[in-house]
Amino acid sequence: MAVSIDIEALRDAAGSVACAAADTLRAAGQPAEFVPAGGGASGVIREAGEPAYEVWVGITADGFTAECDCPDGAGLCAHAVALTLVALEDDLPWSSAATPPSVLSIDAKVAELAEVARGIPARRLTMLVAEWAATDRVLESALLARAGRLAPPSAAELDDLRRTIDGLAHDAADDRYWDLHDVEKAGRAMVEEIEVLAQRPATPEALLVVEEAARAWDRIVPPLLDAPETYEEEVAEIGGALRAAHVRLCEQAQPDPDELAARLTEIIEAAEIDSCLDEPWDYLAVLGRQRVKALRQLH
Ligand SMILES: [Zn+2]
Repeated sequence: MAVSIDIEALRDAAGSVACAAADTLRAAGQPAEFVPAGGGASGVIREAGEPAYEVWVGITADGFTAECDCPDGAGLCAHAVALTLVALEDDLPWSSAATPPSVLSIDAKVAELAEVARGIPARRLTMLVAEWAATDRVLESALLARAGRLAPPSAAELDDLRRTIDGLAHDAADDRYWDLHDVEKAGRAMVEEIEVLAQRPATPEALLVVEEAARAWDRIVPPLLDAPETYEEEVAEIGGALRAAHVRLCEQAQPDPDELAARLTEIIEAAEIDSCLDEPWDYLAVLGRQRVKALRQLH
């Protein structure tokens, strides 16, 4: 859910010293950029004679929350106020349940399991990972990617993948055996195919295939949206996974931003519902602010 920020209340909470310093930073054009992160905003503040400070702001269950590297970072520092101001100027959509970076970096479950893994002899751990990877294509390709063993997909491989995705979309819409669950299953199968592809070195052609998968999902998803009580989370999860893979490949392949923006426009406009790629902020690093703003105005 999106929420808004009361900037006057925020200024009161930060106090006049921090606010004056924040206004000085903004006058100096700081932060120069910010990125949407975890439902809030993240940016780096650079000042002459000071180290660069990374700062994050967002709205969590505890209300307005800021995390900054600076010595005042435990409270509401000038960097947090300056970042909030620039994000507000750009109409960043604020999630009401944002995740601060400190929580992301120490996922308790991952930390606990990593501690357990450190206690296992390397040979056994290697076999354990290999056994899992042999049964899980996404893990297998992640492993090969980390080892630098994956080549960019060939034209023939991409053609195969296109046919697979077409087939999944077609079967999911086949009215002889039609069932809502088949649509969800087709979506999950598309995600698996795309996540395997996304582990490989990015190419402009691979991007197009992910976009075709997104279009296919946009086409078959509407019946699931009519049953939100059962499928709302699944729809968000599948669309989110397709978009995450697309964003990641875009960041690696760095396509021409105008061409990418034109394709996203077409995909968003072609979708009967909100397209799964319709989260322009996710593409900020590739498209730049102006194109992101233009895409947001399609609504
Ligand atoms: Zn700070």
